[in-house]
Amino acid sequence: MQRYELFIDNKFTAPLSGEYLPVTNPATQTAFAEVPNASLADVDRVVASSRAAFEGEWSEWRAADRAAFLIDFGRAIGEHAEELAQLQVDENGKLIREMVGQAKLFPEYFNYYAGLAQAPTGTTNAVHLKAMLNYTVREPLGVVAAITPWNSPLLLLVWKLGPALAAGNTVIAKPSEVTPISTLRFAEIAAETGLPEGVFNVITGYGNPSGTALTTHPDVAKIAFTGSTSTGQAIMSAAGKSLKSVSLELGGKSPNIVFEDADLEVAMNGLVAGIFGASGQTCMAGSRILVQESIYDRVVEELGRRADAIKVGDPQKETTEMGTIASPQQYEKVLEYIEIAKNEGARLVAGGRSETVEGMERGLFVRPTVFADVDNSMQIAQEEVFGPIASVIKFTDEADAIRIANDSQFGLAAGVWTGNPQRSHRVASKLRAGTVWINNYRKTGYATSFGGYKQSGVGRENGADALREYTEEKSVWVDMGQGVKDPFNPRA
Ligand code: NAD
Repeated sequence: MQRYELFIDNKFTAPLSGEYLPVTNPATQTAFAEVPNASLADVDRVVASSRAAFEGEWSEWRAADRAAFLIDFGRAIGEHAEELAQLQVDENGKLIREMVGQAKLFPEYFNYYAGLAQAPTGTTNAVHLKAMLNYTVREPLGVVAAITPWNSPLLLLVWKLGPALAAGNTVIAKPSEVTPISTLRFAEIAAETGLPEGVFNVITGYGNPSGTALTTHPDVAKIAFTGSTSTGQAIMSAAGKSLKSVSLELGGKSPNIVFEDADLEVAMNGLVAGIFGASGQTCMAGSRILVQESIYDRVVEELGRRADAIKVGDPQKETTEMGTIASPQQYEKVLEYIEIAKNEGARLVAGGRSETVEGMERGLFVRPTVFADVDNSMQIAQEEVFGPIASVIKFTDEADAIRIANDSQFGLAAGVWTGNPQRSHRVASKLRAGTVWINNYRKTGYATSFGGYKQSGVGRENGADALREYTEEKSVWVDMGQGVKDPFNPRA
């Protein structure tokens, strides 16, 4: 079993706590590594390093230097894409083919933010006084804590790291206790590409104390969080005490809406991708499938057939279509929701049970599950499961579809399947969701924003505006002969 340490000032550093926690492969349930469970003293030490780095050599780096670093870092990460993908699969049981694809795109994220690092960000402003020049500049916030979940540990870190470093902040990553190793290795690669000490540190451990201590630490300027809605709520109130800037990417119960005029062959692929991709363990999972009544029976039957055909197995194999559930707690939760749905009267069409995979008998596998005749008021339609469970809900017409889609505490994403372009935009404009996919699903990228309405989040990641989320704006007034004419009237 390999032992890892905290990554501080570009080197592995034993924790002051002296405590370690195991990291387990969910396909075999064997612990293969251990990482520090950081204490409050460790958090103080890592924040001190990040703060010193923010005030040190890093602050002298020009935007062009940060851009050049981001490009180099992206290239190095790209060269290690396979290794980083493997590590993540060992930690969370997601498919190797998805994780390699993700990792190969990381360089493009860094290239994008390298470009934006040098883009003009300030303004000059026509103020009301004649002999005054006013301009604004955007400056980095300081120490950013990036707290991430287990489902896509590196992608969700890259979403934060690119804009945060481009803007000149220093970053402390706090990966999930389920998936810390890929982030430690990622930081090691960053250090090898020439980042000054302390610019990118990693602290590992449970949400409490390492996560909670970051959210209350006076020297942390911003919390960039991805995770569950309940943790997001706790973080926002904890960060409120010191009025930190907070961005939250939280849970979802996204509607994937199929109209009778859709190309059903294409739509079926989109429905499968939406809920069974990544074993349904994505925030944007299309877990509520809304189907128009005239095609309802056909879609339910075909979805059941496709779910039954999905190859569940070893996530490291290229031919596998669905890997494991990431942790025993999550596995129990998924099986519990299957019982809840049955008890609520939903009709089980496919799956509804765990799966035993040869050679991985202890693995946390669940069959892709489809429930039909779900009412939107049921728990299975209102609560996020974060697993491979589709709830199929019938609707009558466009207005009914929009009403059901928006009847949710969440508002992360939505899919619309229709052959009518006017309808597609009309429906997209009425959906209360941060992302709408028209005749596609589960696409994200660096060039456009991602984030949630309602209880799915606060703020946006990706896109050009993400850089703003990692800066403060300063307004500078320069006297050009105006003078202070009346000391008691600033408008004179
Ligand atoms: P989680 O909220 O349990 O944990 C996320 C991270 O927060 C972990 O690093 C954890 O250690 C830390 N943490 C826990 N309690 C904390 C606290 N009180 N203060 C500070 N940090 C704390 O989430 P999870 O189970 O790891 O991930 C699954 C959730 O993430 C799902 O709800 C899913 O929808 C959400 N998610 C959202 C997005 C998105 O972009 N919107 C993407 C992926 C996952």
